[in-house]
Amino acid sequence: MTAERPESFAGVGDAFERLWTPHRMVYIDGENKPADASAGQCPFCRAPGRSDAEGLVVGRGEVAYAVLNLYPYNPGHLLVCPYRHVSDFTELTDAESAEVTALVQRAMRVIRAVSHPAGFNLGINQGEVAGAGIQAHLHAHVVPRWQGDANFLPVVGRTKALPQLLDDTRTLLAKAWAADVAG
Ligand SMILES: [Zn+2]
Repeated sequence: MTAERPESFAGVGDAFERLWTPHRMVYIDGENKPADASAGQCPFCRAPGRSDAEGLVVGRGEVAYAVLNLYPYNPGHLLVCPYRHVSDFTELTDAESAEVTALVQRAMRVIRAVSHPAGFNLGINQGEVAGAGIQAHLHAHVVPRWQGDANFLPVVGRTKALPQLLDDTRTLLAKAWAADVAG
């Protein structure tokens, strides 16, 4: 693990550029990397088989679900994944495409209700070169953003998330998810 000093990031482009800098996303996205690309090794295939609390699942749809990122860029950083072990966006069925979109929209409403971010970054990294840490299983990032968050993001990014904090966050979001009537 490279110990990156927060001050070394000062003045490196704007926050958006920084967020989607591939090596940063690999860093954020790529821990706990599976040994191979098979479904058996895949954290996004395993998570739905666990309880919501154990799997950090926030909400479940018919063909896709929303889960907390174990290594969040910001608090509330969610991932929306199809249940099916599929890597490429073009491989999604119509039903999966529709539900991934609907769950991203729902995630935005839920995060807004819980923590009132000033904005979001939404994105899907395709391929290792593009920053996908677990490229075998497609996942759409929903990253809440606040004014000035870039100032502490490098610190957040390299700090191991504490399970208790993730559990608190998941509980908050799951409650708001259930209450989201528009979804
Ligand atoms: Zn998978």
